[in-house]
Formats: sequence, C-alpha cells, structure tokens
Amino acid sequence: MEFHVKPENGESHVYFKGDIDEKIGEVLQEVRPQIVPPKAYFHLDYVDLINSIGISTWLTQLKDFKDIQLVFVGCSNTVINTCRIVPNFLNGPVVSFYARYFCDHCGYDEEQYGLITAMETHASGELKKIPCSSCQRPMEVDDHDQELVSLFTK
Ligand SMILES: [Zn+2]
Repeated sequence: MEFHVKPENGESHVYFKGDIDEKIGEVLQEVRPQIVPPKAYFHLDYVDLINSIGISTWLTQLKDFKDIQLVFVGCSNTVINTCRIVPNFLNGPVVSFYARYFCDHCGYDEEQYGLITAMETHASGELKKIPCSSCQRPMEVDDHDQELVSLFTK
C-alpha cells in the first residue's frame, strides 16, 4: 500500500493506492502523525484488494484516529463490497464511491464503474446514469449496488 498526504485548505487529504492487507497497520501508523486534526479525507479510489487481516488491522488502527473526523472519498467498489460485510469498516461519512453499472440496452457485460457523489445524488434525487462504453446509451447502477446510496446517510 502506498500513500501520500496532501494538505488542502488546511485539511489533510490522504491518497491510498494498493491493498488493505497485513501491512496496513504500518501504513496507518505512518499516516497518523502527518494528519492535522480535526478532520482528514481518506481517498480510496485505488484500493484494489482487501483481506480479512487487513480488515481487522484497519479497524484496530483507526482507533488511534479518534480525535480526527474521517471522511471517505472515492471509495472503490472493493471498499464498498467490504462495507456490506463489515458495516463499521468506514467509521465516518462517505462523500463518493464507485458503483457498478449495467447496460439494459445492449447487455454489455464488461465491468463498468462510475463515481457517485453524495452532492449530485442529493441534488438530483437519484443515482446518476453514465453512457455505456459499448452502445453509448444511458446505463443505470446495477440493482445489486442501488442500496449503496444508504452510505450517504451515515
Ligand atoms: Zn450498452
């Protein structure tokens, strides 16, 4: 797992890239002193794999972030799938995540993901549609991922 911390408008943004596995403990210990309380944004767009040791280590280490309000941005579909099994995996608000899309028009079955943000979803009252990469017609979020909108109410 690689990461870099970038201050933006006095708030810390942490960009992660790689897997949440047995090494995540060391990573979070390195991240912690680089964050300025009270708030930090964790960007999880490039989290690929998450294993069970990774999950338990992550949950334990995040206790050291008690004085920091964590906000989760760009959660990958892997992260989202972990939240289904471990509901407290993300212990703070989610502002955006990648949902899987499906094309009802042509049935194109390559994996297609789109970034869904809380702001857009609240403004339009629905999960946004994106053009199909095969037939260009609007695709909807896969039925399986529709329920994920509940992540925004945390
Ligand atoms: Zn299509």
